[in-house]
This record gives sequence, structure tokens and C-alpha cells, in this order.
Amino acid sequence: MRTKQTMPIVVLAFICLMTTLGCTPTEPTGVTATQTAAESNSLQVGCTSNIVKDLVRQIGGEYVEVTAIMDGPGVDPHLYTPSPQDINVLTNSDVVVYSGLHLEAQFEGALESLVNRGIPVIKVTEVLENEFSDRLLQADGAVDPHVWFDLELWGRCGGWLAGELAQIDKVHAEEYRAAATEFQRVMDATRENGRATFAGIPEERRVLVTAHDAFQYFARTFNFQVEAVQGLSTESEPGLKRINELATLLVDSRISAIFTEQSVSDRNILALISACDSRGHHLEVGGTLYSDTAGPAGTREETLAGAVMHNIREIAGALDVQQLNQVKP
Ligand SMILES: [Zn+2]
Repeated sequence: MRTKQTMPIVVLAFICLMTTLGCTPTEPTGVTATQTAAESNSLQVGCTSNIVKDLVRQIGGEYVEVTAIMDGPGVDPHLYTPSPQDINVLTNSDVVVYSGLHLEAQFEGALESLVNRGIPVIKVTEVLENEFSDRLLQADGAVDPHVWFDLELWGRCGGWLAGELAQIDKVHAEEYRAAATEFQRVMDATRENGRATFAGIPEERRVLVTAHDAFQYFARTFNFQVEAVQGLSTESEPGLKRINELATLLVDSRISAIFTEQSVSDRNILALISACDSRGHHLEVGGTLYSDTAGPAGTREETLAGAVMHNIREIAGALDVQQLNQVKP
């Protein structure tokens, strides 16, 4: 695992809101690490990000042992280049699983050589390209890979993975399919929990300003308008012009809550805060959101469902604070 050094920005900003938030429902967070048995005869699965690791674990359960190359909240999958040790991990796996849609931009050569060696390689978003391409979003002329934030679509990816694993490990085909059904239920329940949590916020006040363009699917799922400082990948750097445009939006809209991301740098966020400060507008950093990675092992955010609920709580909390601020004299 490599810890990212340049973390881009993300700002989530919200226009002032008037209504109260409802109570936050309890969330299903699925299988955790402690439930995964490392049986000697289990399928050895190598994967890229820890969001993919969670998906493999949810579908494979006790029949798989999963190793992620980018296994932590501080890793940027757009920039990460696999090391020779990483390639060894993948080469020694029975199956390799990756997200796709060019998320793992630096893995293309490595994945191709695995296919050439006869190692089964599963792209979990293949089902979306095949059957749900009309629901994939674009950004900067490319497909937006951050599709796990469309929880329903990510559930479909779970179903696809189950079908692929079932062909490789036919003995447990039924278990994989049953797990996929349960995973889709957890994804749908998480989406409904989020919608219930945000229900009190009027549509016209749901504005998210994010650092890199990771929250388009989140915005669509939860009915927010989204603006990004940076492009789809964290490789592009925003210009001063963009920072100033966003500062104007934040000042004009009196948006006072912004968020940083686990896998991107705070630098642009700080530039925005500074640009707003110079105009007499104070921004609070409301918290840190998960974008391209889930949380550390052993936390409830290590599952995608847990990470998404963390984001929902952070955003709802910031909106709630803004509302409290509004009712103050
Ligand atoms: Zn990203």
C-alpha cells in the first residue's frame, strides 16, 4: 500500500437550509473483516481498491480470501502505480477483481499481462457497460468511474461478480448468488436511509461543491446539485480562475460548510478558504468524506455501506449546523 502524498480537494458546500433533518435511521453495513474466514481452501482473490475488496468480501463471504493492493483510506486509485510486489500479489491470486471504467488508470498493462497468463480477471463494472450504459455519467469527456455512489448500480456490480465467481468456483455458486441478493438489499436500504436522512432539505438548497469530481453519482442518488474544483481524475490541477469562480459561488450562496476527502489533498480546499476569507466570508471544514476509498480495516466505514453512511452523516450534520446557525439571532 502506498499512502498518497498529494491529496486534492473536495469541498462540499451547501446553500443555507430552512428545514430540520429527520432522525437518522440505523444502517446495514454488511459483512466485516472479522467474519471472513481465511480457509486454506478458499479462493485467493487479489483486487485493486478497498471498495472492490469490500464488494468481493460481501459476495464471496467465507469462500474467499481477499487482498487489496490499495488497501487504505489514503490511497488515490487514479494515480497509484502498482509496484513489483503488487504485481506478485495479483499474479499469485486465483482470481483478480478490479473496478474498471478507467478508475485504475495505471493498472492497464498489469491487468493485460494477468489475462495473458490465464488468470481470471473480473471487471465488476462490465455489467454496467453491457446493460446500464445509459445510467453511466460523463465527466471531462470520459465515463465517470465513481459509480459505487449509485448504490443500486453497485448492487448490480455485486450480482455480476457473483455470476463470475460462480463460474470459477461452481461448488459455491448458490452461496454467491444468495449473497448478491442480500448485497443488493443492503445497497437499496442504505440508499433509502440516506434519502430519509436528507428528506427535510428542500431540493433547491441541495448544492455540493466537491474537490475532485467524485460525487456525481452521489448527487444523483440523493438529489444534490454538484460542482467540482478539479476534474474527474485527481491528475488535473484547478487553476486560480476556477478557485475564484467557486469562491464567488460560495460567497454569493452564503455556503459555510466544506469538506475534505480521504484520498485527495487539502491544498485546494485551503486555497478556497483563503479566497473566501479575503472576501470576508468564513468557511468551516465540516468533516472528511470518503470518495475513492472506504475506511480502515476494523472500522464500520471499511464497508462501502458504512463509508456512504459516514458521508451522509457528515453532510447532514453540516446542514444541520447551518440550520442551527440560521435560527440564531
Ligand atoms: Zn476519484
